[in-house]
Amino acid sequence: MPENLPEPVPTFDLEYAPAPESTSIVSIADSYGLFIGGRWVEPRDGGSFTTVNPATEEPLAEIATAGAADVDAAVAAARSASDGWAGWSGRERSKVLYRVARLLQERAREFAVLETLDGGKPIKESRDVDLPLAAAHFFYYAGWADKLGYAFAGRRPRPLGVAGQVIPWNFPLLMASWKLAPALATGNTVVLKPAETTPLTALLLADLLAEAGVPDGVVNIITGAGETGAALVGHPDLDKVAFTGSTEVGKAIQRELASRGTRLTLELGGKAANIVFEDAAIDQAVEGVIGGIYFNQGHVCCAGSRLLLQESIADAFLTKLRRRLDTLRVGDPLDKNTDVGAINSKAQLDRITELVASGVDEGAEMYQPACTLPERGWFHAPTLFTGVSQSHRIAREEIFGPVLSVLTFRTAEEAVTKANNTPYGLSAGIWTEKGSRILWMADRMKAGVVWANTFNQFDPTSPFGGFKESGFGREGGRHGLEPYVVLEDLVSG
Ligand code: NDP
Repeated sequence: MPENLPEPVPTFDLEYAPAPESTSIVSIADSYGLFIGGRWVEPRDGGSFTTVNPATEEPLAEIATAGAADVDAAVAAARSASDGWAGWSGRERSKVLYRVARLLQERAREFAVLETLDGGKPIKESRDVDLPLAAAHFFYYAGWADKLGYAFAGRRPRPLGVAGQVIPWNFPLLMASWKLAPALATGNTVVLKPAETTPLTALLLADLLAEAGVPDGVVNIITGAGETGAALVGHPDLDKVAFTGSTEVGKAIQRELASRGTRLTLELGGKAANIVFEDAAIDQAVEGVIGGIYFNQGHVCCAGSRLLLQESIADAFLTKLRRRLDTLRVGDPLDKNTDVGAINSKAQLDRITELVASGVDEGAEMYQPACTLPERGWFHAPTLFTGVSQSHRIAREEIFGPVLSVLTFRTAEEAVTKANNTPYGLSAGIWTEKGSRILWMADRMKAGVVWANTFNQFDPTSPFGGFKESGFGREGGRHGLEPYVVLEDLVSG
């Protein structure tokens, strides 16, 4: 063991009294309609589904299912609002987006509690990550709305028109903000479909947008399952489709749009490598690895789900990692001390369970801390696999759960080869004290985002997106404006 790694000290138990966040700030209606043209309307085919609290399996509300006629109506509303909104000055659009950001800050607690109730993520994450970042996205793009002429040198941007946006269940409000803020800043109108299991914060956002002064029809929010998403992205009157979700559905959408002129951005799955060299600050790296995979129950497209450890420190690092794993608190997402909350749905829990079983069957060694999972609700213990080979399914497939697969390497070249040995290319992490090695590695990583001595850091000013089967197009930063504009040359000839 290298000298800088002390012998592990014995673990000790810390008792935490329950610290539940009150839900009294949230009022959930029995049922919700569709938000089309600035009004709440009933779906034309009258269908609905139930959204449940994944931590208790209790129903929260009945949600309208948008059929083809509703999708049509939403796209028509967005189309008829399009010229008006595009004609607003950037300064006026900017003011509205600032108001959205400020209202999100003012109502942050309400949104955070609702997000946790509907999605199962720990309240400390909804409160300290999702809500501040959602507001930050609106602030950031509010800043661009009246400066678009400076974003693209020598060219004049104009809005595309109507965007259809489909978002997943892992960061419901944050993904809505990632999608809406740049589209609105650039003068586009939108039809947004949240995921079936997590519609409530997007529906609350509909009211907030109206309160902020977003004109009727500029944002339309329709709910439903995959069929509603398919009807939306297949609608012939869209100028742009933006999708975040699984690679499988992303490929289907790309096939569907291949024969049309509709612009497309896809933000899909990942299987990121978090690479730790022997000279890294080990305790910080352990924290980064833990946050990289167990944050949001591992329901993160850029999660560091493959840990690559340099062989010389592997044993000592794993000792520390297991010790840290033992301290994670799993349970009630509304408890402010909870680190790992509920799995978003029964279907997702089944998928995680099946992949974990495949890891055991294929011969990897599983470690789970001794933790008691709640009797009701969908939970999965944080899980660590060692003895993983590159061919194992747990090293190749996106698990989207609290499951870490550990591999080892000897040289930097080997680390690069193993890290890139995946169909995905969304993110990577490099832990070393050597700056030149960070640059050397980052140059060779086939990943859209590379973090150095940190992981899962998000900022609205920084572009995010993938290579290979992780999709294309960027969200965030100045780059995030580009998918929503047509650029005209200022100087001809
Ligand atoms: P999906 O890709 O099915 O869902 C993402 C969004 O697309 C949801 O709003 C979904 O609606 C919608 N959708 C589903 N089918 C279609 C379609 N044919 N056309 C248009 N929209 C559609 O992901 P899942 O929820 O099924 O999760 C499966 C796996 O995907 C996960 O285990 C994980 O590996 C990966 N995933 C990756 C995400 C990422 O951020 N990269 C996010 C979510 C999942 P609805 O939810 O109502 O079915």
